[in-house]
Amino acid sequence: MAVKKEDPKRSRARLIGNVLLLIGAGLLIINIFLPNLFAPPVARVPYSLFVHEIEEGHVARVYIGQDQITYQLKGVTPDILGDVISTTPIFDLNLPERLEKSGVEFAAAPVQKSGWFGTLLSWVIPPLIFVGIFQLFSRNGGGGGAPGGLQIGKSKAKVYVEGEATKTMFTDVAGVDEAKLELQEIVQFLKTPEKYTKIGARIPKGVLLVGPPGTGKTLLAKAVAGEAGVPFFSISGSEFVELFVGVGSSRVRDLFEQAKKQSPCIIFIDELDAIGKARSSGGMYGGNDEREQTLNQLLTEMDGFGVDGTTVIVLAATNRPETLDQALLRPGRFDRQVLVDRPDKSGRLEILKIHAAKVTLDKSVDLETIATRTSGFAGADLANLVNEAALLAARAGRETVLLEDFAEAVERVVAGLEKKSRVLNENEKRIVAYHEVGHALVGALNSSSGKVEKISIVPRGMAALGYTLQLPTEDRFLLSKEEIEAQIATLLGGRSAEEIIFGSITTGASNDLQRATDLADKMVTSYGMSKVLGPLAYQKQQNQFLGGMEMARNVSPATSEAIDKEIKSIVENAHAKALAILNANRDLLESISEKLLETEVIEGDFLTGLLSQVKPAEVNV
Ligand code: ADP
Ligand code: ZN
Repeated sequence: MAVKKEDPKRSRARLIGNVLLLIGAGLLIINIFLPNLFAPPVARVPYSLFVHEIEEGHVARVYIGQDQITYQLKGVTPDILGDVISTTPIFDLNLPERLEKSGVEFAAAPVQKSGWFGTLLSWVIPPLIFVGIFQLFSRNGGGGGAPGGLQIGKSKAKVYVEGEATKTMFTDVAGVDEAKLELQEIVQFLKTPEKYTKIGARIPKGVLLVGPPGTGKTLLAKAVAGEAGVPFFSISGSEFVELFVGVGSSRVRDLFEQAKKQSPCIIFIDELDAIGKARSSGGMYGGNDEREQTLNQLLTEMDGFGVDGTTVIVLAATNRPETLDQALLRPGRFDRQVLVDRPDKSGRLEILKIHAAKVTLDKSVDLETIATRTSGFAGADLANLVNEAALLAARAGRETVLLEDFAEAVERVVAGLEKKSRVLNENEKRIVAYHEVGHALVGALNSSSGKVEKISIVPRGMAALGYTLQLPTEDRFLLSKEEIEAQIATLLGGRSAEEIIFGSITTGASNDLQRATDLADKMVTSYGMSKVLGPLAYQKQQNQFLGGMEMARNVSPATSEAIDKEIKSIVENAHAKALAILNANRDLLESISEKLLETEVIEGDFLTGLLSQVKPAEVNV
């Protein structure tokens, strides 16, 4: 790191600050100790003893001061006075009378003349000290966010106004084509805001980039700035939330102030969930005030800008959009969501091409083979992989990176990843493929829950290993008994496929089973769809004090048993139905699954074509 040269003006100001500080401290010490420094040492006695000595007639003269009474005793010879003694006065109205009676010479001490200097100093010094401290720190820490010093409240946002040479562009990001397409529009907004505002269109203020870590959310945000040629402010949500209450919100204010000066520009907030978590999640233990204030400030700022003709677009990244406070997602705030998912095979190939261009590859290296072997890798993992391979080649003293280097690097990266997230081995991948196709085939016969749009075995998030996406073709508010039964069958389709093909079942289906059971439970206890139990509601009691935890049903043991039996029979019937459908379409199950293993994702018209071949099955239950 380069040593920062200090601006001479700044160092002079700091010197002045230091000197002021020293003078102030010196004067303060003098002010406190001066009066006592030159005063003769006196013996202090309790007031009661003083009174006693007056009454005994030992006291010659008394000075009554504001906070001290000094007196002298009669000496051995009457004209030589004895020791000076002091006592602390108490509120005693009888004192003058008592002194007079005893014939003591007494006087009230004059208002301390020497005090004016001290009084003056005590007024002047504290402000001076503060001015000194302020000067010291503001010179130290200010000046556009120099590191170190006192920076409370200053935004830590890093500003990149990227030079032409280092610009990040959309071509640097691969495998996330849909996200790029959606962000293309943001680039247009930033480039020519007038075009939109002129006809009265509202430019979006916030875009949420949703996806697992390392999939290129930061990179995309930078690319948007790069494409539009605007400054890029970047800060992480966790940096807003500090120890001191109020610091986060002042940072937000500062950040937006800076950004507005550079409009049009982009603010990128990484880890938005650090500040944007739903406010109720604090529960009965009380919310996190600091985070809440920061969040409120962010909302205020987002509501505020745009009216003054500035174009600031906030891009924020999160891995868990469902935990975000609903207020953040309202229109005019982060009302757009862009999914940045882990790349599929062809996406990985594109990403590998980008990163492999930076190293010297041997002719034997086929990036496609590597893309096939790296299922579940995010963009950052692939970048890491290329680098690892290059390091291995360099360590072996080679000029070019060989396929073996990649093979070894894959193992290293996988070993690291397995601890962090899910990367499937070949066998697991097979099971997941059949499982997902099982859902899709059963789902294809069940139009009420929507059309099967996409099957993927690219792991997504922490829980799902693969997924089948069913999108509704129309808004549905009412579902018939048969439709719910079909949905339960679809949920069980995954597990049923595993049973048919592998003869065994894995733990991967547990979420499906939970959802299937919940649906069956609702049919019986909420919708009154069971013949045995009739049209009665047997919902579980919610305990609002335990965070909505469900409590036991308020029914007799016999009814409870009947409910359980009924739920079980619904789920078992659906299971039988799913098995029947899959058995009737076994060839299709195998051919689609093998195809899926190859491409990892099947979607669109191609998928529709495949699924239109599914034959219904006769089930007698
Ligand atoms: P995120 O913000 O989603 O956690 P980053 O954007 O920080 O991920 O990604 C880290 C690095 O990984 C990037 O700088 C880039 O080198 C690489 N990378 C990630 N995703 C991609 C991608 N889709 N295309 C190319 N490189 C990527
Ligand atoms: Zn499943």
